[in-house]
Amino acid sequence: MRGTDGSSRRRRKLLVIGLDGVPPETLVELHRAHMPTVAAMLDAGVHGAMRTTDPPISLPAWAVMFTGYDPGSLGFYGFRHRLNHSYTQNYMPRTTLLEVPTLYQLLSDRGRRVGVIGMPPGYPPPHLNGFYISDFLTPPESTDVTYPPELRAELEARFGRYRFDVPFRAEERGELFRQILEMTRQRWQVAEALYTRESWDLFAVHEIGTDRLHHAFWKYIDPAHPKYAAGNPFEHVAVEYFRQLDQWIGRLVSHIDPDTLVAIVSDHGMMPMLGCFCINQWLVEKGYLVLKQPVARAGTPLEKAEVDWGRTRAWGAGGYYARIFFNVRGRESEGAIAPEELPAVRAALERDLKAIPGPSGAPFPIDILDPQTTYREARGDPPDLMVYFDHLRWRSAGTLGHPTNYLEENDTGPDDAVHGVDGAFLLYDPEVQDGRGGVRVDAVDVMPTLLRAMGEEIPAGLQGRPVLAAIPGTR
Ligand SMILES: [Zn+2]
Repeated sequence: MRGTDGSSRRRRKLLVIGLDGVPPETLVELHRAHMPTVAAMLDAGVHGAMRTTDPPISLPAWAVMFTGYDPGSLGFYGFRHRLNHSYTQNYMPRTTLLEVPTLYQLLSDRGRRVGVIGMPPGYPPPHLNGFYISDFLTPPESTDVTYPPELRAELEARFGRYRFDVPFRAEERGELFRQILEMTRQRWQVAEALYTRESWDLFAVHEIGTDRLHHAFWKYIDPAHPKYAAGNPFEHVAVEYFRQLDQWIGRLVSHIDPDTLVAIVSDHGMMPMLGCFCINQWLVEKGYLVLKQPVARAGTPLEKAEVDWGRTRAWGAGGYYARIFFNVRGRESEGAIAPEELPAVRAALERDLKAIPGPSGAPFPIDILDPQTTYREARGDPPDLMVYFDHLRWRSAGTLGHPTNYLEENDTGPDDAVHGVDGAFLLYDPEVQDGRGGVRVDAVDVMPTLLRAMGEEIPAGLQGRPVLAAIPGTR
């Protein structure tokens, strides 16, 4: 057999299928009957849950899974980061901010051939011994989206303009579903064309359509969602989507050789969104955030409001969780808190946050995370506090002017789902019949586990460890 050195260090190849926002039960129970390819790999491989990062957001999650470093060590705390202690200027993480190698970069540096489609962060695309197509966070109208650069024109000539993402917070759901199917079809046709071009040591494809389908249609497909109505016109979109996705996966997997392992991984789960809590409005009510005058219109973003920064002690930002920032003298340009007062202000704010009642007056579970103690270190531009409302079933709304602090709908466009902490994990070895479920892999463990399964050396310094129980034929 090719690639065998007679020891347990036999080197293997790997095909990674990254499905964004897919809870384990989606594959293991919900759609198993419509997904014969995935079902066969579940039956023969090892599967379970991938415990995602805090916060459970695609970035940091994918970066943590494929570097083996926690979010603070990478300096990735979500999609948006404030720039240099400014009040409302933001930036998104890019590949150029990564200071440790990804799995792709590491194997490329070891001389192995690597092809990557859309793994986040993917923009600008890293230069590898192979190719990289950038990810769903690619800024619109970017042209430097592939490595090598000439790959872009070649793909466009054959498959048309490449779709990195769809505008998923859209009212017109029927058209959106059509776009999600179209984006997914194109991605997997590109993947098959590139996968069959040569014998890749590592080939990885990331699909964002799964996450977009769930966000846009969760209330139509999940009977546990409070707004679910049986018999609605979109009830069957998930069955249709996952049936098609399995066919695309099946086509790709049909090309693997006996040396190639297949990993299906997802970065986080999904849950019904119950509402949005208006963090900045609440901070105004409590006197931490001071406006020069009330905003005129419901849904006004903080950057459009007239904030009296000289009298503001804390402000927040919306998203899956609330980012909270303190306005500290010597750090922020109009800092209102003397550094020695900060511990007392912070303690008072944490007490006030913990006392926020739920929408009907019942206790509201509030988790407060301090990036400085949550992670090994907090590099980059961490928020001062990270706050989860009702274990993330409630989003954070940063906009102002609403008649209540409890919104039924997302303030930045229709959205029916929030992120759960368990993504999916499946590792399949075509040469081993194992068929075990119930394994648990932490996000930081994904990279060392896959390196071990490939017979590759694990570099020093990784914060995770190989989970042997997650490797077929190994205990
Ligand atoms: Zn995601």
